[in-house]
Amino acid sequence: MRHFKTELKKIGVYTSGGDAPGMNAAIRAVVRTAITHNIEVTGILQGYCGLIEKEFMPLDLRSMANIIQRGGTMLKTGRAPEFHKAEVRAKAVANARAEGLDAMVCIGGDGSFTGAHLLWKEHQFPVIGVPGTIDNDIAGTDSTIGFDTAVNIALEAIDRIRDTAASHDRLFIVEVMGRDSGFIATDVGIAGGAEEIFIPENPVTPDQAIERIKAGMSRGKKSSILIAAEGHKPGRAYDLAEQIRKKAGFDAKVCILGHVQRGGSPTAADRILASRLGSAAVEALRQGQCDAMVGVYQGNVVTVPFDNVIGHKKHVKDELVQLLRTLSV
Ligand code: ADP
Repeated sequence: MRHFKTELKKIGVYTSGGDAPGMNAAIRAVVRTAITHNIEVTGILQGYCGLIEKEFMPLDLRSMANIIQRGGTMLKTGRAPEFHKAEVRAKAVANARAEGLDAMVCIGGDGSFTGAHLLWKEHQFPVIGVPGTIDNDIAGTDSTIGFDTAVNIALEAIDRIRDTAASHDRLFIVEVMGRDSGFIATDVGIAGGAEEIFIPENPVTPDQAIERIKAGMSRGKKSSILIAAEGHKPGRAYDLAEQIRKKAGFDAKVCILGHVQRGGSPTAADRILASRLGSAAVEALRQGQCDAMVGVYQGNVVTVPFDNVIGHKKHVKDELVQLLRTLSV
């Protein structure tokens, strides 16, 4: 974590990378906390794209009305591949300074934090990160904004699929989101009573899954649900179904939940997390902290240097995977 010395008059806020339910609640918390301390706030549209193109909008107390319950992000989000170039980042910082911004709050994931870290490293422009991603794979925080909502949406779908699976004695493979990460699959698997999960952290072969399905059948089980994290290749559930059909002759139905998991109203847990972290981000900046992320650790809000966050992926606890297997006999 680094420290800077400026009396804050105006800060910027942006959402970047994949959208996550609860980002609006975080924006609201940033704006209302800042204005309470007489700090003006500028909204930057579409993440780094808006910073490069000077797409700014003033945010006041009333513009935050009626957004806490909305999914998506009222500031829009975006991906700006050109931000990998140093000259583009220099232009972005010049734009931020011309707008009168003393610091910024970045709501996003690992990639967005990497961009923010470079703004400090190259230009001493202070940024604080707020973890907003449905994947929950950010190191330094127990949970990320959007994860709880995504798990609950996927769980509702799995409960419905279970009705069909049980009525027709069927095997289902349900693919959930999770780019390189099995947090959603693991929580949904435990809460939905799945037989097996396919996640990057704890790879299972189709043969091992077939063994588990057969063992369940020998105990009288007639239907099974397997959960697969999409990983790098959305649609991998079809490959798994094909392999299971070829190897064991089981006809596995596939359901890919896809983008429905991202949308919708955030859960109470996500709104509260977003409110706490959005507010904490402004308090951290007021204390002169930057080049860091605010997170929650053992129930308390903490500030973690970007150096300990970026590139330090958090992994699913093996204990949870074992629990799922123990309970799905
Ligand atoms: P997330 O923040 O959810 O991980 P991305 O990985 O898509 O999402 O990153 C969001 C944006 O952050 C990118 O479009 C890019 O503008 C910026 N970014 C990501 N990685 C870097 C990097 N290594 N250097 C500079 N900017 C980056």
